[in-house]
Amino acid sequence: MDWLHEHPDVKTIRIAAADLNGVARGKRVPARFADKILTEGTKFPFSVLNMDIWGEDIEDSPLVFQAGDPDGLLLPTERGFMPMPWLEAPTGLLPIWMFHLDGRPYEGDPRQALARVVERYKAAGLTPVVATELEFFLIDDSGGQLRVPPSPRSGKRRTGAETLSLRALDAFDRFFTALYDACEAMDIPADTAISEAAPGQFEINLMHQADPLKAADDAWLFKLLVKGLARRYGFAGSFMAKPYEAWNGSGMHMHFSVLDEQGRNVFDNGGEEGSEALRHAVAGCLAAMPGSTLLFAPHENSYDRLVPNAHAPTGIGWAYENRTSAIRIPSSGPKARRIEHRVAGGDVNPYLTVAAVLGAALNGIEDKAEPPPPIQGNAYELGLEQLPGSWGAAIDAFETSPQIKRIFPAHLIENFVMTKRQELHYMAELSDEETVELYLDTV
Ligand code: GLU
Ligand code: MG
Ligand code: MG
Repeated sequence: MDWLHEHPDVKTIRIAAADLNGVARGKRVPARFADKILTEGTKFPFSVLNMDIWGEDIEDSPLVFQAGDPDGLLLPTERGFMPMPWLEAPTGLLPIWMFHLDGRPYEGDPRQALARVVERYKAAGLTPVVATELEFFLIDDSGGQLRVPPSPRSGKRRTGAETLSLRALDAFDRFFTALYDACEAMDIPADTAISEAAPGQFEINLMHQADPLKAADDAWLFKLLVKGLARRYGFAGSFMAKPYEAWNGSGMHMHFSVLDEQGRNVFDNGGEEGSEALRHAVAGCLAAMPGSTLLFAPHENSYDRLVPNAHAPTGIGWAYENRTSAIRIPSSGPKARRIEHRVAGGDVNPYLTVAAVLGAALNGIEDKAEPPPPIQGNAYELGLEQLPGSWGAAIDAFETSPQIKRIFPAHLIENFVMTKRQELHYMAELSDEETVELYLDTV
């Protein structure tokens, strides 16, 4: 029996899919229709997953109209129903994903794009193991201005470097207790929580999964949960990449390793430096980095995060145990040898980020590509080749990247480029305040 059928008090459900920006798109449905949706699915126009989220003129979306904007079929994911603990009424959530009416996966769905990358690993006898680390801010925007919420305990505002400050964390203990209870109810495997460097900034790591779709689902659901629950506690929970110019932004680091058919970590050669396969995967990630930056930094505000001296990368390089580098090999026991990819901001679509990183690593493994030597010291001062420095440059690099064409279907690339160009055009007319308002709660 699934969660919904064990909870007869639930009168309404939500069905929701992730669009290109990772925004949940769906419906509120009376619970009596749940069985029908579980067996037959439901229908949305394909364009729901592709359109820009900013309400730009629909005439600017030629792809949608060329096809007559037909319906696609949405089916439940393996995860089934779960509660939505941030809503007042007991409510069930059913994540769904998109197919053509004849049952073929829809190429424009970000979750389907990740499933396709996972299939490529399977065909090679490999299984990726993935964990994400999510940073976010708790913000008081009630007066129309971004402010760190006052401590619920003392009523005082906090200042200064807050990394691993127990005081900052404990001031929000009511929120974190509710958050961990909710994660358990939703089967989101939350690990450690810490206070991050900026006031009001926190990080929660999710446990690694030998199923990348589960890891990406966890990250997507976690973002919905934090935003929903924060609202209930009277503030905004934001994964916006850089809400405050003066403070560090929020990242979504991704750790991964790869298992062979015997369940052995192919990145482990018993030594500190890791195996040939680890080097090939690193080389693949570096080669795809200019092309995939758009997925790791998908919004205008994302580029404010990728600046020197904020623990966020600016150059294309890799290193052992070095937090100024885009790719870091953490020190660990050999069995846990893994890659930490540090480019993505908190504002990403987790499905597209996990697909881009895993796809790039597999390109490198398939090609037996060799990376340049690992960097040493401060990556901001080494004159490395830089990541695309603006949204426009990243869109151009994504559109023409041969590595991206190897990872993603042409249809998704075309839709993503179109959506991002529309947003770029629209955002150019907004003031800084309007930009913040737009991103604060959306991403
Ligand atoms: N907040 C940093 C970023 O923007 C990451 C800090 C860390 O190393 O956890 O990616
Ligand atoms: Mg962190
Ligand atoms: Mg990290």
